[in-house]
Amino acid sequence: MKKLLTIILCVAFIGSAEAGEGIFKKSKALMGTEMEITVASADEKAAHKAIDAAFAEIRRIEEMMSTYISESQLSKINSAAGKKAVKVDQELLRLIKKSIEYAEMTEGGFNIAVGPLIKLWRVSEGGNIPKKVEIRKALEIIDYRDIVIDEKKKTVFLKKKGMAIDLGGIAKGYASDRAEIVLKKNGIVSGVVAVAGDINAFGMKVDGAKWRIGIQHPRKKDAFLGIIELEDEAVSTSGDYERFFIKDGKRYHHIMDPKTGEPAGKCQSVTIVAKEATATDALSTGIFVMGPEKGMELIERLSDVEGIIIDAKGNIAVSSGLKNRIKDK
Ligand code: ADP
Ligand code: MG
Repeated sequence: MKKLLTIILCVAFIGSAEAGEGIFKKSKALMGTEMEITVASADEKAAHKAIDAAFAEIRRIEEMMSTYISESQLSKINSAAGKKAVKVDQELLRLIKKSIEYAEMTEGGFNIAVGPLIKLWRVSEGGNIPKKVEIRKALEIIDYRDIVIDEKKKTVFLKKKGMAIDLGGIAKGYASDRAEIVLKKNGIVSGVVAVAGDINAFGMKVDGAKWRIGIQHPRKKDAFLGIIELEDEAVSTSGDYERFFIKDGKRYHHIMDPKTGEPAGKCQSVTIVAKEATATDALSTGIFVMGPEKGMELIERLSDVEGIIIDAKGNIAVSSGLKNRIKDK
């Protein structure tokens, strides 16, 4: 769970609001986490109506993509694994396709086929260290290339029995992009959607004040690594410190390395800044698995993608395009 990125509404932002324009904020528990939507608007009623519509959109996505809801389209794909192809909405098909693109981009670091590993480790439910043989068995059924998409028939088929897709590393980012679209449709021109650690900002005030986001330090509670100002951008952090358990002095967390079947060990946290939250969410998870060297290489290679990687020892690396944008306060 990533409450690690905390929205800081800069005092100047609120103080410099246009005559009659205010900041309205609402929180809701959705997708297994706390969400917060903040908008700048001259009309309080319209602002709340827009926020409610955005939350309804997030709930719609949760109902389609959650593995905790047995009736969700994703659960139907998973329960038919090894048996049959399942017809799904174009929207889910597209996100699964996009997830596979991120898998290729991150050399398999981001892998939505990790479902069997998630079930085995049960990090969200308190944790369980699986036996070696269980991990070995799970590794045989987590290849994302065994996800078969039929564009014409709009079906998804998981080739092997026991396979399961888990969209936990991308669905919150996607939901936050969708929430932004719904807010804009409802007349909102400036706001922030914070879905756990996936923060999506759009627009700014007439006076040019931007939304300011503090990036949580992975080891110092309540301390920021720095602050960035966002303008039509999203930022996501994947860390080993929000959802984890400790056994015999060792930390086990919720981001799995699909190569080893164990929690990925090369980073403490990865923060990604890009245009869309779907991208930042998937890339922060995938690059966390890739590790600091390959991860930073990828960030530098991709246009419009910046990031901060903190390796397992706590060394901090910042991408070239982000260096000048990080502020102390
Ligand atoms: P959070 O869910 O805390 O916001 P992330 O975006 O990094 O953090 O996603 C972690 C979630 O993604 C896990 O809880 C799990 O559902 C899923 N996941 C775990 N390992 C991987 C992986 N290697 N690739 C894709 N998704 C993963
Ligand atoms: Mg993610």
